[in-house]
Amino acid sequence: MKCLVTGGCGFIGSELIRQGLRENADLEIVNLDLLTYAGNPENLREVQDDPRYTFVKGDIADPALVNDLVDGSFDLLINLAAESHVDRSIEDASEFLRTNVVGTQVLLDAARRAGVARFVQVGTDEVYGSLGPYGAFTETTPLSPRSPYSASKAAADHLVMAAYHTHKMNTVITRCSNNYGPHQYPEKLIPLTILNALDNVDIPVYGDGLYVRDWIHVEDHSRGVWTAAIKGRSGAVYNLGGDSEKPNLEVVRLILEFTGKPDRLIRHVEDRKGHDRRYAMDFSLAKEELGWSPNIVFETGLRDTVKWYKENRSR
Ligand code: NAD
Repeated sequence: MKCLVTGGCGFIGSELIRQGLRENADLEIVNLDLLTYAGNPENLREVQDDPRYTFVKGDIADPALVNDLVDGSFDLLINLAAESHVDRSIEDASEFLRTNVVGTQVLLDAARRAGVARFVQVGTDEVYGSLGPYGAFTETTPLSPRSPYSASKAAADHLVMAAYHTHKMNTVITRCSNNYGPHQYPEKLIPLTILNALDNVDIPVYGDGLYVRDWIHVEDHSRGVWTAAIKGRSGAVYNLGGDSEKPNLEVVRLILEFTGKPDRLIRHVEDRKGHDRRYAMDFSLAKEELGWSPNIVFETGLRDTVKWYKENRSR
């Protein structure tokens, strides 16, 4: 099987590639990545000499490059390339529109013209908006994005569904909750907290710290994407979640415990604008149709992640 992965030098894409090549001897992967601030080829050091792996530096929103690269030899295209940080989207949404929206359409057009057998879009739970204290998002929850990031990801999902309905493309969308694990760029809560704790630097916590996220280890997420890519129904959306809802403050306190640092490093800062209070995922469809569920217990995965950052601080 020959697969084009986009955004493979990022946090989740690099795990997807490492895992895919480790577990499938007959898999060939081409990785198209622009190497923005979030992309790091070092994340793929362990596969860089593998003859089944090829890296192409380039922009998914560049039609000339993408049309040249995407040909009928690909069985699968998995799109992870994105601008992914909500805070940056609040400052300036333009790159989010270019990469997340225009880039997705450029890839869809190229895949359709070339006859790529299946198109997989890696999406996010944030497209559903914000929950109160009860209930969970299902795949039929109406999309109600509230940040420029989630609005751009929702637009991308709509374009993929449009390609499925209009052009009868074979598509699958996965929507996943918040990921953690090694190789994440340290601007998001968990890696930022770990590195600040290790360096005895104050740890910023938005507002009251009681924003709830459903945390999933990046290995579990990647396994979910591969499973959906191979077994998923065309036109389907699959929620993927970690079954591990935690308020931010609890996550930060656990990291302080695992690093042996005091709670006084916590510094409450002005809240993020439009901050979604709670996300929770109902992933029973992925369980039933794909036989997928997350395996890694949050506390164990977090302890291992802290260990990884301790040992790989220079990256
Ligand atoms: P990331 O920011 O770590 O990596 C994004 C990668 O995309 C980088 O390697 C970057 O260089 C590349 N990229 C950006 N713009 C590009 C462009 N125009 N052309 C080609 N490459 C480009 O992101 P991540 O956390 O690994 O997320 C990957 C995907 O998963 C994204 O689509 C994101 O929306 C989605 N997702 C992330 C999470 C999460 O918790 N991190 C949760 C659910 C879904």
